[in-house]
Amino acid sequence: MRLERALGPARGTMDKLKEECGVFGIFGHTEAANMTYLGLYALQHRGQESAGMAASDGERVRLSREMGYVADVFDEEALSSLPGASAIGHVRYSTAGESKLMNAQPILIDCAHGQIAICHNGNLVNAKELREELVQSGSIFQSNSDTEVILHLYARSKARNVDDAIVESVSQVQGAFSLVMLTRDRLVAVRDPHGFRPLALGRLDRSWVVCSETCAMDLIGATYVRDVEPGEVVIAGPHGLKSVKPYPPARQSQCVFEHVYFSRPDSYVFGESVNEVRTEFGRRLARESGVPADVVVPIPDSGVCAAVGYAEAAGLPMRMGLIRNHYVGRTFIQPQQSIRHFGVRVKLNPVRSILEGRRVVLVDDSIVRGTTSRKIVRMVRSAGAREVHMRISCPPTVSPCFYGVDTPRRSELIAATHTLEEIRKYVDADSVAYLSLEGLTGAVRGGSSSYCTSCYTGIYPVAFPRDEAKYLQLALKLNPGPAAPVAEPDHAALSFEKDTVVS
Ligand code: SF4
Repeated sequence: MRLERALGPARGTMDKLKEECGVFGIFGHTEAANMTYLGLYALQHRGQESAGMAASDGERVRLSREMGYVADVFDEEALSSLPGASAIGHVRYSTAGESKLMNAQPILIDCAHGQIAICHNGNLVNAKELREELVQSGSIFQSNSDTEVILHLYARSKARNVDDAIVESVSQVQGAFSLVMLTRDRLVAVRDPHGFRPLALGRLDRSWVVCSETCAMDLIGATYVRDVEPGEVVIAGPHGLKSVKPYPPARQSQCVFEHVYFSRPDSYVFGESVNEVRTEFGRRLARESGVPADVVVPIPDSGVCAAVGYAEAAGLPMRMGLIRNHYVGRTFIQPQQSIRHFGVRVKLNPVRSILEGRRVVLVDDSIVRGTTSRKIVRMVRSAGAREVHMRISCPPTVSPCFYGVDTPRRSELIAATHTLEEIRKYVDADSVAYLSLEGLTGAVRGGSSSYCTSCYTGIYPVAFPRDEAKYLQLALKLNPGPAAPVAEPDHAALSFEKDTVVS
């Protein structure tokens, strides 16, 4: 018997891009730590490696963080060690920096401006460069997380007050960042000028709440007010709420994958219902690539909303032909590989009465490597399906993400290295079709001018250092040849040449 970490997070099926992080903050509530605990609990799907919290009682900021799930990290004792009316919290899946406690967030420092704690969702493209400069001039880093750079910039700021020092420090970083910060008497929320990652602002009675997704507000009974705008710094303090916009105007590049997969369907992100957007992806997919069939079956849970839209537009019944085991944890005892499709079967089981003899449209939100899709298609066939047509509610994923999402090496992305027909053959389906880029961007408010679609196009809105590609161990050919500049000009486009097909 082997104890093996074989399934990854319990949410969804395997072979998905990994969520980035979730952030939460509350200002002016007598139970700030308890509210933050609940907020993080609702955001657990965004990161499962570590969880942490910092709270201020107006005099001192205290910190608690551990590796693991929110419910495991915080017990009553941990929560009671975080007194005060303001708190911030973080759930982490590492995208920059190793998976170690020292990289868990919040990060807390004490400096000439006083104590400050920070939580970050995203990825800074100029962190390495800034870090090297800071180390040269004497800074000593406690982690290898890109987020810590912001704190060193803050500590070195000569600004006369805390607000100006915060604005000065966040003005120097580039890339994707939704931040929440806590000082002795302030809660600060920052969203990068491109608005890559979501950040919502709400109210709970007289308190202010900020969080990655509105599902965290729902759990504590808070009301969504608006999004923190791209390029906005919101400061809640003793004198009320203040908004500062220190960045020059920039093209909006909200991450469309938040709507495709990352966010919970009961959330509003970027001002829109994820459920409604995802359902519209499905409708458009049916109109673009409908196929004669008897039943639409979602891959749970990731394909459910799009399958609802697909079935509606195609005039077909949607049935739950695959049932998910909701009690699969991160680890399980894998007896032997002798059971066919064991890894997938632990999570999903086909319903023969729905599938047998039927022409099935199988709907999912993405194919990354294709390995899981293949197992699922074969499982559906083995349950008696006459035909299996795979429909994907986003375009083919052909390029890695540099803005806070963990993507495999480009050579491992099946759509980057294989034609549609090769993918069809590999996953063993009768047909495979993806939603078009136009279909995707047409379903979100603001369309292509408001959204990042780099993982589908290989065109990047914010340039990244060339060695970032090396760091991520990507099998890339950068085009054009010379080293890419860091983050300037605003819409510097880098594109990737197609690799040769690998089997
Ligand atoms: S590259 Fe893809 S995953 Fe990354 S920010 Fe852009 S749309 Fe989102």
